[in-house]
Amino acid sequence: MTAATESPSEVVARLRATFRTGRTRSLDWRTGQLTRLRDLLTESGDELADALHADLGKSRGESYRSEIDFTVREIDHTLERLAGWLEPEPAPVPAVLAGASAQTVQDPLGVVLVIAPWNYPVQLLLAPVAGALAAGNTVVAKPSELAPATSAAVARLVPRYLDAVAVVEGAVPETTALLAERFDHIFYTGNGTVGRIVMAAAAKHLTPVTLELGGKSPAFVDRGTDLRTVASRLVSGKFLNAGQTCVAPDYVLTDRETAPALTKALAEAVEERFGTDPSTSAEYGRIVNERHFDRLVRLLDSGRTVTGGVHDRGTKYIAPTVLADVSPNAPVMAEEIFGPVLPVLTVDGLDAAIGFINDRDKPLALYAFTTDPEVRERLLTETSSGGVGMGLPLAHLTVSDLPFGGVGESGMGNYHGRYSLETFSHRKAVLDTPLG
Ligand code: NAD
Repeated sequence: MTAATESPSEVVARLRATFRTGRTRSLDWRTGQLTRLRDLLTESGDELADALHADLGKSRGESYRSEIDFTVREIDHTLERLAGWLEPEPAPVPAVLAGASAQTVQDPLGVVLVIAPWNYPVQLLLAPVAGALAAGNTVVAKPSELAPATSAAVARLVPRYLDAVAVVEGAVPETTALLAERFDHIFYTGNGTVGRIVMAAAAKHLTPVTLELGGKSPAFVDRGTDLRTVASRLVSGKFLNAGQTCVAPDYVLTDRETAPALTKALAEAVEERFGTDPSTSAEYGRIVNERHFDRLVRLLDSGRTVTGGVHDRGTKYIAPTVLADVSPNAPVMAEEIFGPVLPVLTVDGLDAAIGFINDRDKPLALYAFTTDPEVRERLLTETSSGGVGMGLPLAHLTVSDLPFGGVGESGMGNYHGRYSLETFSHRKAVLDTPLG
């Protein structure tokens, strides 16, 4: 039987039986599975890259950098350290328990469900799967139906390499059926509306959840910064994957005096990166589907177009677009943009910027470009966000020793490196008191 012919309860029962054999607990099994997953990525990287190109127009280089090699690095980081991470952690005991020993052990949870979105459909499915395997679990992996070529490729490849991971493809009905099952952890990446559905379904079984959600991640640009460098970094982070990145800078806050020079520098940086006609650049992606294309086109007249605005529904192309003179009430500020539109808003200094950020949902990332230590410190201590990138968008999530996750509306829980092990393990307290 394969996941394609089994019912959701049969899939979960099969994986639970595998877990109960106890073989997933050993360090050998875990490193063996991680190595097999690594083999899948390196041996079938081109097949995955072709699927990513079909789904999202990603270039081969970008697919390797942001999806395939990214996940391989995450696996390598774990393989090098897993034995150490799994060492029981001794704890001191109180005087009344003299002679006893106490320790914390990382206990596998059982069968975990990973539900992934379409925007980085390889990385956001297989990096959590790697964490779940490192922690000694079996896994049901649900790729996004909105990246159908990648979903099919993963469903084809995984059974060739791994027998404790079942890929279940499908859309809402299939996911709903899966969510009726009892899992030991659910790891969901996607939007907050579905996050609530996942959490409600998990509550029925008292299953813990990790929710990796999104939101509007602000970028604050201080006066007196090197705007050429700032613009080049903002453009790289914003327009990667045509803006369809959960941690992409969503909008820019700067002061009235800096805005004209910044928007000019942003337009120049777009041309430098993608040429005068970005539709011909191999490095520039496409919008995932018509629904998102139509949604994004409606946001294009939210301000004065500094560059971009060009779009073509047939090829789902929207040019990298920078908007100036954007009002906080404009449509582009009402929702997470999740596309290649960068609005620049003006505020009266740092106090106003901090107020603006704190008046809205806690973002997944906060970016700041400043050389002033006091500005850095105030942004760090007076705002709340999943993570902070000072001087460079996106890159914090490539540091495997940093937890990656949101706070408030941008999610709960985190992963990457050691944090994945902790997410997919139970920290079990063990007290051993001698009898004699
Ligand atoms: P999506 O539409 O692919 O949905 C994500 C998953 O949820 C899919 O597997 C889908 O099948 C499933 N799903 C959809 N509707 C469902 C329902 N009614 N019941 C059960 N399951 C359902 O992806 P999306 O939500 O459009 O992804 C974009 C969002 O994800 C953005 O908000 C983005 O910021 C966020 N995101 C967050 C991260 C992160 O790491 N924090 C990463 C990428 C994307």
